[in-house]
Amino acid sequence: MKIGIVGLGLIGGSLGIDLRACGLEVIGISRHQETCKIALERGIVDEASVHLSQLSTTEIIFICTPIAAIFPTVQKIIPYLSFETIIADVGSVKKPIVEECSPLWKNFLGGHPMAGTADQGIDAAQKDLFKGASYVLTPTENTPLECVKKVAEIVQLLKSNVYICSPDVHDRAVAWISHLPVMVSASLIQACMNETNLEILQLAQQLASSGFRDTSRVGGGNPELGVMMARYNRQELLRSLFQYRQNLDQLIEQIEQENWDNLSKILSDSQKVRTRFLS
Ligand code: NAP
Repeated sequence: MKIGIVGLGLIGGSLGIDLRACGLEVIGISRHQETCKIALERGIVDEASVHLSQLSTTEIIFICTPIAAIFPTVQKIIPYLSFETIIADVGSVKKPIVEECSPLWKNFLGGHPMAGTADQGIDAAQKDLFKGASYVLTPTENTPLECVKKVAEIVQLLKSNVYICSPDVHDRAVAWISHLPVMVSASLIQACMNETNLEILQLAQQLASSGFRDTSRVGGGNPELGVMMARYNRQELLRSLFQYRQNLDQLIEQIEQENWDNLSKILSDSQKVRTRFLS
C-alpha cells in the first residue's frame, strides 16, 4: 500500500519511519527540498517531493501540518487525487478541522495520535513514537465505514490503541488531559519566574529537580502548538480553565484560613482519584 505524508515534521516524519518499518511505501511531501533530502537520507520516506502531484498514486494520505494549514492543504491536494483516496489528518483539535474538511472530501477522516515530544521539525522525527499510545479517530455520521476501517488498520500497525469518538467529544476530553495541562504548566513556569529576588531565583533553579521538571514539561513545549490548541479548541479550553481557576481559589482559601483538615481532604481525594484515573 502507498501512503502519502504531507508535512515532514515530528509527527509526519515519525509516521514515515514507522510505516516504512511495517513494509508500506511512503511518499513524503515537504515545502523544502532540503527537508526532502534529509527525509530520504534518514530513510523516513521512500520518495520525497515538494510537488503535491506526487500524491496522485497514494491510497491514504496523512496531513501532518500545523492545524491552521490542514484545510488549505486538503484544498490544494484534492485536484491530484482519485475519489477513493482517503485523507486523514493528525491535528490535535478535531471539530473545526472535521467541519471544514468533511464537506470537501467524502473519504476524509479526522484523527489524533496522542503522542509527541517537546521538539519539532524533521530532526525530531523518531521511531516507535506511537507505540502503545492512544490514537483517536473521529468519524462523522457521513464518514464511509470502509474509510474508518482502513485508517484503523494502519493505526494498529503502529501498535497504537485505537479510540473512536465524535469530534466534539474528542475536543472536550483532550481539553482536560492535554490542552489544560499545557496552559497550567506554562503558567507555573511564568509564576516561578515572577520571583524578583535574584538570589532566591538562582537557588530555586539549582534545587529544581524531577518535580519541577515533570510539572513544567508540557508548558515548555512547542509554543505554536499551544496557541493552535487555544485557538481551535477555545471554548472547551476556557471551560476547563475556569473550572481549574475555581479549584485553585478553593486551595488558596483553605491555606489562607489555615484550614488544614480541608486541605488534607482535598489532597487525599486527589491522590486517590489520580491512581484510579490513570489506572
Ligand atoms: P512540526 O514538527 O512543526 O511539523 C509540522 C510540519 O508541517 C513542518 O515540519 C512542515 O513540514 C509543515 N508545515 C509547517 N507549516 C506549514 C504550512 N504553513 N503549510 C504547510 N505545511 C507546513 O509539528 P508537529 O508536532 O509534527 O505537528 C503536526 C501536527 O500534528 C499538528 O497539526 C499537531 O496539532 C499534531 N500533533 C502534534 C503533536 C505533538 O505533540 N507535537 C501530537 C499529536 C498531534 P515541511 O517543512 O516538510 O513542509
